[in-house]
Amino acid sequence: MNTAEKMPERYGMKASAANESPVKEVVCQCGHRICDSEGVIRSRCVKIVEGVALCRCKRWVEVPVGNQG
Ligand SMILES: [Zn+2]
Repeated sequence: MNTAEKMPERYGMKASAANESPVKEVVCQCGHRICDSEGVIRSRCVKIVEGVALCRCKRWVEVPVGNQG
């Protein structure tokens, strides 16, 4: 049985040139930047499957978690 297939690790990559499309910042309606330009999601709670993060205002905000594919 060949189980050599590795899961592609998307987490923590992307430290390359700034010219490469940067991650889009996501700012909640309350003004809280829930995802910064480095792709860091500033939220206590993230639903990876739904691609949303819980803001401090208790609102679920769509964030780029890269779950497509
Ligand atoms: Zn908010």
